[in-house]
Amino acid sequence: MSDTLNRREFMAASAAALAVAGVPQTLQNQAPTLLIPKGPRPLVVASANGHRYKNGGTVTCIEMAFRMMTEGADVLDALVAGVNLVELDPEEVSVGYGGLPNAEGVVQLDASCMHGPRKRAGAVAALEGVRTPSSVAQKVMDETDHHLLVGKGAQAFARAMGFPIEDDLNTPKSRQLWLEWKRRADPGHWLDPRKRAEAGFQAGLRMVADGLIDPEHYYGTINCNGMNAKGEICGVTTTSGLAWKIPGRVGDSPVLGAGLYLADGIGAAGSTGRGEANLYGLSTFLIVELLRQGRHPKDAGMEALRRIAANTQEKRLLDEKGRPNFQVDFYILNARGESAGVSMYPSTYSVCTENGATTMDTAALHQNKLLR
Ligand code: ASP
Repeated sequence: MSDTLNRREFMAASAAALAVAGVPQTLQNQAPTLLIPKGPRPLVVASANGHRYKNGGTVTCIEMAFRMMTEGADVLDALVAGVNLVELDPEEVSVGYGGLPNAEGVVQLDASCMHGPRKRAGAVAALEGVRTPSSVAQKVMDETDHHLLVGKGAQAFARAMGFPIEDDLNTPKSRQLWLEWKRRADPGHWLDPRKRAEAGFQAGLRMVADGLIDPEHYYGTINCNGMNAKGEICGVTTTSGLAWKIPGRVGDSPVLGAGLYLADGIGAAGSTGRGEANLYGLSTFLIVELLRQGRHPKDAGMEALRRIAANTQEKRLLDEKGRPNFQVDFYILNARGESAGVSMYPSTYSVCTENGATTMDTAALHQNKLLR
């Protein structure tokens, strides 16, 4: 970005400096139009739950991240501090402590983070007992040569790094919801495992329809990406994954190129929604490559959604019009400071700039509400 001064303004602003520097008057008169470079506009882009006050808090994830970042904190440190607020919130059932558990009632968490300038990343998957998986992912990045630690190994690493390990991350709310799902889905006489799995899925969707679970939280995640005034780009995605998942199921959130990807100097993309769709298409890698080719964040995100739609063929994943019957959202920024939230069906996302934090509508590939 640059501001242009005309010759007259330039002369007025710089005459004194030129005189002090001893530049002859004749040369001063030859001064050209001057381009004054400005740094990029810092911004944070996140899923909608990045800008919700919960649990009596007075600051949201994106407000915290933006403030820390613009006060000089490392961009990733700022983003992780922001998502920690959401992970620790017992009322937030999509992430961290109190996230909806798997089919056995155990909360298993996935998270990843990427640091653009350092060109490093870290992730954990199927991690039990630690409330803030994003911080453990950051430790994997900082303290090891590896990118992804899973299950018991991830927990042992977290313990070694000094994270408290708890027996159970359920809150009364998440346990109550799991019990309700069990009651609806698993009366104990389904003999066909395929039917049983389908019954579990349908029971979950009926709980969404009955208003027990926010539709955004059946799948549920927070992604948060930021760029500071130096143009340094980082991102983090953290989740409790798909509600009532098969134990051990890992979604897109901890997988680079699926739930999160970025390239310094280019841009960042993160996702929430049906992780399997992003794993098949490595959607966020695709988006960042499209940004690299000069596509606007909105166009790049729309292309990824079209790709997902084209690759979704199984009947169980399609609605009566042949469209995907699931939600996927992308949160995107580029190095020029442009941003977008896009989604398969109408949704919202959050942005924080020097003008403050706000929640906005995504650009949706399909305009109707998602019918489940
Ligand atoms: N993408 C996450 C997953 O599939 C869930 C979500 O974002 O809702 O694990």
